[in-house]
Amino acid sequence: MNKELQTYIDAIPAVADAAGRKETFWINPKMVPEKEQNITLVQPDQITDAKKRLERFAPYLEEVFPELKETGGIIESELREIPGMKDFLNTAYKTGIEGRLMLKMDSHLPISGSVKARGGIYEVLKHAEDLALESGMLKETDNYRVLAEQRFLDFFGKYTVQVGSTGNLGMSIGIMSAKLGFHVIVHMSADAKQWKKDLLRSRGVEVIEYADDYCAAVEQGRKNSDQDPMSYFVDDENSRNLFLGYSVAGERLEAQLARQNIPVDADHPLFVYIPCGIGGAPGGVTYGIKQIYGDHVHCFFTEPVNACCMLFGMATGLQDKVSVKDFGIDGRTDADGLAVGRPSAFVGRVVEPMLSGIATIEDKKLYDLMRGLLSSEEIFIEPSSCAAFAALIRPEELTAYVEKMGLKEKMKQATHIAWATGGNMVPEETRKAYLTMGLA
Ligand SMILES: *Cc1c(COP(=O)(O)O)cnc(C)c1O
Repeated sequence: MNKELQTYIDAIPAVADAAGRKETFWINPKMVPEKEQNITLVQPDQITDAKKRLERFAPYLEEVFPELKETGGIIESELREIPGMKDFLNTAYKTGIEGRLMLKMDSHLPISGSVKARGGIYEVLKHAEDLALESGMLKETDNYRVLAEQRFLDFFGKYTVQVGSTGNLGMSIGIMSAKLGFHVIVHMSADAKQWKKDLLRSRGVEVIEYADDYCAAVEQGRKNSDQDPMSYFVDDENSRNLFLGYSVAGERLEAQLARQNIPVDADHPLFVYIPCGIGGAPGGVTYGIKQIYGDHVHCFFTEPVNACCMLFGMATGLQDKVSVKDFGIDGRTDADGLAVGRPSAFVGRVVEPMLSGIATIEDKKLYDLMRGLLSSEEIFIEPSSCAAFAALIRPEELTAYVEKMGLKEKMKQATHIAWATGGNMVPEETRKAYLTMGLA
């Protein structure tokens, strides 16, 4: 290990834990009150723009995906209270959770069964709209249902969309792009599960497999795409569009909490926990939620011990200049959706003043939490998703944060939201196999 990294290990206990592959909980010392946050890389009106774009596409989405009939073409998931899971955690993990525990079920988002159905699908739609507007075939004021017509399928068929993925991003980009008529190539890293590759191929998606990690798949995908002027590369390492697609979740969550009469204010703090890979999904969602609730919401990312790239990036301040490999960690984890060794180039910078902290978790516990949720609530989510409980199962550190923020007396009125990021599309045999994994 180089000298510079050793100085971070010596100075920051959470970095030392993480480098030693121990679970840890980093509290962000750079978080500041909302009015002191000065974010220039993205703007709140860009969320509005993204929201309006999704509304323009709603009639089209409703037309081509029957499962979106019910919501009129809006891709959204349920927010459900999970008191049984709260009891499970309080008993099995001595978490002492007061207040309300809820699950944001992006695990059950229509079309691709993961949080990527927000950002991934949004970016493909944005690209399709750009092309169609530019060609003169579409106007913003048209009913976008016309995009289902053969002439648009033929038009998009001249173009290629490419993406590097550990699985779920490829599923969203692949399914959506293929539906619009694009030629689509998904570059899958070694961590990607076989059933995801099979499913994509069955939808006419070209899947290229790599024996290497996520960064390598992205690099090759980008190279391929750059050589073809008709090809567009969805760049998970830098994409503003992905980020903005995710950020629309903020307003949607606000409406859901309001409908369930759940207050969020100075006396009713909200805690949100989101599994993190490269950072786009949890970063975008956090940015969106912070725009709504400001200092009343406390957002945490969660990562596997073996792929805690965002913790390294943010705690050292090196952001994307550091990877888990620099600390001698291989990045391999059963949490395939989070198997990323190097954080996004810009997410860490955007969330630096607003993120409360990052907790890490061992793979083995993901399966235990998965079984706990299944037995207590009859809800199945995939291992990556279960990382959403990583901060809650470290009550000492969480309580230290609560005390530091002066919230101890308010915790009975608090709401905790574990953001379940994937799971619905996992095939039955794979679910069954998961049920016996990680047992001592
Ligand atoms: C992709 C993914 C995440 C995290 O998203 P990033 O943008 O990579 O940080 C979390 N959970 C699941 C299931 C995912 O597929």
